[in-house]
Amino acid sequence: MSAEIETSLRGPRAYDLARRAVAAMEKHKVWPTALNFELWSHYVAAQDSPLAAEINQMIEAGEAFTDTVGESLAERFLPKAKLSGEILEAGDALTKELDTVSRAIQSARSSSEVYGQQLASASESLAGEDTGKIKTMVETLTQATQKVRQENATLESQLADTTAEVSRLREHLEQTRRDAMTDGLTGLANRKAFDEALERACAGAEQAGGVLTLAVLDIDHFKVFNDTWGHQTGDQVLRYVASVIGRAGASPRTAARYGGEEFALVFPGEGARAALAVLEEIRAEVSSRVLKRRSTNEDLGAVTISAGLAERRPGETPASLIERADAALYASKRGGRNRTSAADPIAAAA
Ligand code: GH3
Ligand code: MG
Ligand code: MG
Repeated sequence: MSAEIETSLRGPRAYDLARRAVAAMEKHKVWPTALNFELWSHYVAAQDSPLAAEINQMIEAGEAFTDTVGESLAERFLPKAKLSGEILEAGDALTKELDTVSRAIQSARSSSEVYGQQLASASESLAGEDTGKIKTMVETLTQATQKVRQENATLESQLADTTAEVSRLREHLEQTRRDAMTDGLTGLANRKAFDEALERACAGAEQAGGVLTLAVLDIDHFKVFNDTWGHQTGDQVLRYVASVIGRAGASPRTAARYGGEEFALVFPGEGARAALAVLEEIRAEVSSRVLKRRSTNEDLGAVTISAGLAERRPGETPASLIERADAALYASKRGGRNRTSAADPIAAAA
């Protein structure tokens, strides 16, 4: 099914599909998120697919297409996240194609304009002569030219509308894609974005024979903090800790919220020693800051974080790197918290 759909997304049916997908989504009260757009593009493109059968069944049963339903459908029927990239590419290709066509028509229009002027002057210069037949012919041609010109103008404005529609759709998809990679509470990269960044970083390090370090960080005794001060205040602390980690995580590094009160930092091109220095700075900054509750200005004390880091070994998979960084984090916890541990001994500075 996907090869066929891929062709449709890039071929002349692309807009038709996009419009039909949006229309179907509107009809069934489905929010136009990137994920839903993918699902419903498939739905309209391949009515005989298992996905379409499932959706049809849900429509018949009057089920609501909530985000959870969309995610579960995507999980079961879409060939991975790769698709949203494909749809964006299709949108891109479409925009370019429309641009080209639009330019072609514009040039056709100006050349028919020139042609029209030539005919008009020919008609004028023939006016005095006894050339009734030729004159009629030229007039007919002039009318025909005018008609072509009008048709071109209509076509051109239709194309401009469609181009604008496609680029709006594209922008919306891009925004949705960005949202889908960001953690809502902290604004850091989310777990999905982290997974992709680590995967890319590992592939890059493997290819270039470069170094790469992964760190995982976890707030100490955060359950107690929540139980004492409440979840909302806990959220403020999460945002604060995330902001400190985020400042250290500018590109090419990636700072992510890995889980509830767990964070990760990817250090492409940096070894364990450089990463350790960064983590120690983060840890010192967080532990030295006396937190205040916003609403009451109450003193909350400081929170501390524990961290673990692992420098990637040649050929090592992302999963194994995470596992070793996690083990180092647990060593920090066992060792008393508020500290950073490395998976392997770090050689002293030369
Ligand atoms: P440890 O030092 O061993 O890490 O202890 P801990 O209490 O931090 O660890 P544990 O895993 O037992 O508990 C993590 C707590 O983090 C549980 C939950 O209250 C809190 N937490 C997780 N996600 C969120 C969140 O989004 N907001 C808030 N406020 N708290 C969260
Ligand atoms: Mg914790
Ligand atoms: Mg934890």
